[in-house]
Amino acid sequence: MNHEISLAVWDLPSPVVIGRRTTLKAGISCPCGCSLARTTIDVRDEQGATIGSGRIGPDVWPGSSALHWVELDVTAPDVEGAHTWTVHATAPDEMHAQLEGTVRVLASRPPEHRVTIDLIEQGSGRRLADVELRVGAFRATTDEEGRAQIDVPAGRYDVHAWKIGYDLLSIAEDIANRTTLRLELAVAAQAEQPYWM
Ligand SMILES: [Zn+2]
Repeated sequence: MNHEISLAVWDLPSPVVIGRRTTLKAGISCPCGCSLARTTIDVRDEQGATIGSGRIGPDVWPGSSALHWVELDVTAPDVEGAHTWTVHATAPDEMHAQLEGTVRVLASRPPEHRVTIDLIEQGSGRRLADVELRVGAFRATTDEEGRAQIDVPAGRYDVHAWKIGYDLLSIAEDIANRTTLRLELAVAAQAEQPYWM
């Protein structure tokens, strides 16, 4: 009889830096709760070359009942942009068929410039914590002081800032050495009160 195992991949940084080593975690589980230790996990690039490989360990992922996992060292793509890797799981027994999944990877040039972003509430001048920021593919969240720092390669980026209760802010900015941005978020207009007809 064949047990239908499932495969998960997590903790892959996004973006990864072109040509460098990076890590990801891969896990498999069997609905029957089998120990899947010693299952081989291979990660292959779009050309089918193996870029990372490892064996599932004996421990289950904390908090899960039967997710067996391994951390793999993998080589990031040489070319900037979006890529798709395939992940192959081969169990050491015949009850568990070979399994294949895909994972999307975003590769970037090395981040060499630090951009400091200050988030201010329009009107009040209050500093805003917990604002979600994106500079291209890079992400950060503002701290208690309403400030975040993101390391990115030089270039022109779409910068997005959002927080619940505020209007989404999108601008394009040139990022060079030690850029500082001061962004103001406007409080979202109150939604109209529903009323009974
Ligand atoms: Zn099983």
